[in-house]
This record gives sequence, structure tokens and C-alpha cells, in this order.
Amino acid sequence: MVKQTLTTESRLVQLGVGRDERTGAISVPIHPSATFRHPGVGESTGYDYTRSGNPTRDILEAGLAELEGGSRGLAFSSGMAALTTLFLHFAKGDHLIVSEDLYGGTYRVLEQVFADFGLSASYVDSRDLEQVAAAIRPATRAMLIETPGNPLLGIADLRGLAALCRQHELLLVVDNTFLTPVLQRPLELGADIVVHSATKYLAGHNDLCAGALIAKDPALGERLYFLQNSTGAILSPQDCWLLIRSLKTLNLRLERQCASAQTVAEWLQQHPKVTAVYYPGLPTHPGHVLQRSQADGFGGMLSFRVTDQATAHRLLKRLQLISFAESLGGVESLMTLPAEQTHGDIPEPERLRLGICAALLRLSVGIETVEDIISDLAQALGD
Ligand SMILES: *Cc1c(COP(=O)(O)O)cnc(C)c1O
Repeated sequence: MVKQTLTTESRLVQLGVGRDERTGAISVPIHPSATFRHPGVGESTGYDYTRSGNPTRDILEAGLAELEGGSRGLAFSSGMAALTTLFLHFAKGDHLIVSEDLYGGTYRVLEQVFADFGLSASYVDSRDLEQVAAAIRPATRAMLIETPGNPLLGIADLRGLAALCRQHELLLVVDNTFLTPVLQRPLELGADIVVHSATKYLAGHNDLCAGALIAKDPALGERLYFLQNSTGAILSPQDCWLLIRSLKTLNLRLERQCASAQTVAEWLQQHPKVTAVYYPGLPTHPGHVLQRSQADGFGGMLSFRVTDQATAHRLLKRLQLISFAESLGGVESLMTLPAEQTHGDIPEPERLRLGICAALLRLSVGIETVEDIISDLAQALGD
């Protein structure tokens, strides 16, 4: 019998199915055991202690690796735990190049934690390959890129950055939280490591905090596993199970979220109180063509600017269906004010230079009916 090759979508649904050979369970068993009995001295079932390896986590980690096209996946207790473990790969004196349009927490851990350990970072406009190349120093070891950027959804050229990294022997790390492997597979475009805040689209229900690292090269995967086991920020077996369950509907959720985000972006564009809309699916977005060439969709995140701060505040207060809350990627629509929430730790002059002003709003489009999302925006923006 020829083994059928499945699409990413089908593999997501089948994650863990029948992996418990004894029972044939469709839903993966949760193994909360902290430790495992050894058959004899020098013998092991393959499991010794849960920080080092757990059967439920194994299925999730193997699934993540397969979806991103990597050799190894690792599951962490949050996106920041995954990023922290990644940064521990570097040593005192090392330098990183990081996209400036990025998650505020990544900036905070680099500037307020890792800077004290001698790891430095330069923040660049990762859409501009010349600017990125100019930031490379002898001590540079890696690039950490978010594309689309956060919160302005700028698109970086992943193939171009991968070529630059190869030329200078740098690791290319891509935070793929906004698109997930369903829409964008950075390892296939030349990246070495993918990072996820699995709290967002992968988990998708605003009910779980989790993170992931996926490495392309087995030796690099082994090194990251060593760091995961040594420092211990693992995802619990219960949460691994919940994340496996969530992944099964990732494709369906994203399909709806992408379609609705496109409709909402087009609607916002014609609203008199909206002065700018940032969504890569709009043909007027400067990264639109590039995004089409490196991803299979535009995602469910968009940002927009209203006339002034008072209008932004009034809108947030009036929202009924959409929740004014941090985070993104869940089935429930959420709106944030990046200047005060997600990007509050970036110093104000820097924030304003990046365009993160007090009248900028970010919307994570959920799976509610798009007409209901638009009605809520219409009434909240009304006079
Ligand atoms: C939320 C987020 C993180 C941090 O992940 P947590 O799960 O909140 O720790 C990192 N990167 C991006 C792009 C994010 O949106």
C-alpha cells in the first residue's frame, strides 16, 4: 500500500490520531506523570522525567516540527519562554539584528533582561534589505524577524533575508505567530528557526498560554532541546493536549479569519473617521505583492488609524461584540491600543517614529459573522 501524502490541513486534523497503539484512541491520552518507571538498570521506556520528555508533549512537538517542515519542535509554557530559551543559545558579547516592528515583550526581554548578560540587539526596518545588511557586525550571530510586523503589518522579504544570513553565516529566526505554518513556512524559504507564541492562532481560543521553537537542522534542534531541558520552561501535558486539540481546527479558523479580515479592512478603508488601514491583503499595501510570493494568505490581523486619540478611546469604550483586550489569534475578536498595551514598553519617541501613535488600533479578527463585526465597528465609530 502506497502511503498517502496528506496536505498540511489534513495532517493538522490527524495530529495524534491512533498514536496510542494499545487503545487506538482518537484523542491523544494525557500523560501527567512527572516520572517514569525503569524496567532495569540502564533500561528506559524512552521516558525518564517529564521535563526531559513526555509522551503527550512528544506528539505535539513532532506535529509542530512536521507542520513547519523542521527536524525538531519544542513546546514551551509561553511564547516568551520559547524566545528566552532561544536567546540562551547565544553568549555574552553576541549581537542580534531584530525587526523594529515587533512584539513589545521581545524588545523588553532583550533590552531589560538579556542586555545585562551582554547580549545586544540592533533594531532595523526588516523590509529594507540594505538597512539590515548595514547593521551586520563581526559579533552578529542571528536575525530575528517578524513578518508581518506588529502592529503595522509590514512585510519582510524572507528569501532575501535568508540569502543575506547565508552569506554572513547568521541564523535566521522567524517569529511566525501571525501567520502560522498554514499560511507561511519560513523554514522552506531559508530560515533556520521558527518561533511561535502558540497562545495566539495555534491555540486559538484565548484559553491557553504556550510557545514553540522549531529548528530546521537536527544539530540546532538538539542544542535547543538541551536548553529546554536545562532551563525547564516546558509546556505541561494537559496544555499540550489542549494545544493538539486546537491545532485540529487551525485551518478552518484561519480560513474564516483571513476572509473576514479582508472584508473588514475594505470596509474600514471607506470610513470617514479612518485615516489609514494596514492589512497586507489590500492591493494598496506596500507589501501586498511580496506577501503573495511568500505566503498563502494575508492573515487575520489588521491595524487602522482613526482621526485622533479621543476617537480611538471612544471607540474602545463603545465596543460591544469585539473585546478591548490584549492578545490575538483567538476565535473571539479582540481590539488593542498598541501604544498603551502591547507596545507600552517601547520608549515613546521610538514608538512615535515607528508610527505607533495613540490613534492606532489593532484588530484581531475572530470567527464571528463578519456582518456582526462590521456592525460593531460601525456603531462604535459612529457619532
Ligand atoms: C504574544 C506574542 C509573543 C509572546 O508570547 P506569549 O505567549 O504571550 O508569551 C511573541 N511574539 C509575538 C509575535 C506575539 O504576538
